Amino acid sequence: RQAAFRTDLSTLLDQVGTGKESLSFMKRRIRRLASQWATAAYRLDIKLHRRWREQKKILVHVGFLTEESGDVFSPKVLKGGPLGEMVQWADILTALYVLGHNLKISMSVKELQGFLGVPPGRGSCPLTGPLPFDLIYTDYHGLQQMKQHMGLSLKKHKCHIRVIDTFGTEPAYNHEEYATLHGYRTNWGYWNLNSRQYMTMFPHTPDNSFMGFVSEELNKTEKRSIQQNKVRNMAVVYGKEASMWKGKEKFLQILHRYMEVHGTVYYETQRPPEVPAFVKNHGLLPQQELQQLLRKAKLFIGFGFPYEGPAPLEAIANGCIYLQPKFHPPHSSLNHEFFRGKPTSREVSSQHPYAEQYIGRPHVMTVDYNNSDEFEAAVQEIMRLKVEPYLPYEYTCEGMLERVHAYIQHQEFCSPEAPFPPVNASRVWPGGPFTRLPNSTLLGWAGNSTALPCWPPLSALRLMVSAEGQSCVEACQSSDLVCEPAFFRFINNKEALSKLEIQCEVVELEMNHIFPAYSVTRGECGLQKETLLFSCAGFSAKYRRICPCRDFRKGQVALCRDCL
Ligand code: UDP
Repeated sequence: RQAAFRTDLSTLLDQVGTGKESLSFMKRRIRRLASQWATAAYRLDIKLHRRWREQKKILVHVGFLTEESGDVFSPKVLKGGPLGEMVQWADILTALYVLGHNLKISMSVKELQGFLGVPPGRGSCPLTGPLPFDLIYTDYHGLQQMKQHMGLSLKKHKCHIRVIDTFGTEPAYNHEEYATLHGYRTNWGYWNLNSRQYMTMFPHTPDNSFMGFVSEELNKTEKRSIQQNKVRNMAVVYGKEASMWKGKEKFLQILHRYMEVHGTVYYETQRPPEVPAFVKNHGLLPQQELQQLLRKAKLFIGFGFPYEGPAPLEAIANGCIYLQPKFHPPHSSLNHEFFRGKPTSREVSSQHPYAEQYIGRPHVMTVDYNNSDEFEAAVQEIMRLKVEPYLPYEYTCEGMLERVHAYIQHQEFCSPEAPFPPVNASRVWPGGPFTRLPNSTLLGWAGNSTALPCWPPLSALRLMVSAEGQSCVEACQSSDLVCEPAFFRFINNKEALSKLEIQCEVVELEMNHIFPAYSVTRGECGLQKETLLFSCAGFSAKYRRICPCRDFRKGQVALCRDCL
């Protein structure tokens, strides 16, 4: 069946259900953004030349909102608890619905069992028949519940599952045996999925797929009126929970010398002691009212927590400059409680690395808060700067629809992967634009790309060698490309090594998330034995990695130029 774009969201709103604050929050958001989604659907339909798209049967099981997982979120919705997840789930549901798929929504184990056709009851009751869905979107809680209630059949059907996973899961943590043997075991990982089945909130780990969410887009008239009505000396603090303000008096004092400071901190009866008296605290605001506040403000300022939420994008989209602390050393699962036990080795360089790396000045300023002079100078500069509202395409409704559409039509983890094809790489830019990178080699791909079913198309592949200690994420980035894990299987062979003119005394085939790679000093080359361990994120001081990079669309890093 063909999927037809939908613009009337009333059926979706009914499907979401009622009775919990989390559901009301999501429904308010869906309603508020309905017209934006409709315009986006119309535009994307034209962009895709009204192409035929297959309608998929999709189940969305929101594990963290089920009573069975304890549902710790719903009671916090009105108290400043994490709303980012709720924002993202609302947008995922809307995107799938607007794209015209056949959608079922489950928010309890009972509903899950009903949709899967598993008889209710305790213990694992394997689902015997075929899976009644093409795709299941869930989270780690939901995955656990499916394991309990689908038993053995989960293994058989897991290629249909997509896991919404805010901060991402790297291959080394995902592979059960490897994680256990090499100290990567966490509370979350070890599901042996293809790492691209994990979908993140920001495009931080190319090993995973970037799902994202949306932020409101402004038209020309709105943009102009916002710019005219900006209050030069008005700042809003990022942090809706009082604890996020703790120990920040010094910065607030400096800021207050120049600006009127506003906050949206949840409180019950009295001002929380962490929030100084000079701060105009509005209490936790409904999303729409927060937008209004951001439209007037010049500065949106972060103090280090929460990490990587939606709010800075909303602020920038409403014409604020986002000021945030640089983390030196970067925060990671090794040195910070929040990331401890999360299945990622990622080093977080600031409160919002996406804002820092993908947006940057003049919309985003990332400074060392330990240096009061630097902090003060940034505040002064912000008051002088004029910026326009800005929203990266990938965070618009159209951008999200485009990306999710591409994933649904092209990502396939169920059929066994084709055997590694022979490599036929040739240098396309000898001494070309990348010669300023002495430590890396870049090759284009002259393979027979059309013969192989592959998405992204193989024509996008650019082969690179990283420096020692550098991951493929960084190596590709340094050439303005992005690491593409789907391509590892094409470059994990001796032909690629010889095309790169790498001299190997020995070639090992091993389960190692650093491989394919080679050690210069020892003349040792390593190829990957386990496809699940292909990792963009992996790095080692002893090895130079062989990296599959690709191009990407401006403002839509998840998709290569020929990916649509
Ligand atoms: N938000 C809100 N009212 C407020 C402050 C924030 O509705 O007073 C919303 C905001 O619009 C954003 C969401 O909360 O979409 C998540 O914000 P944040 O970046 O703080 O991320 P979180 O830590 O909640 O995931």
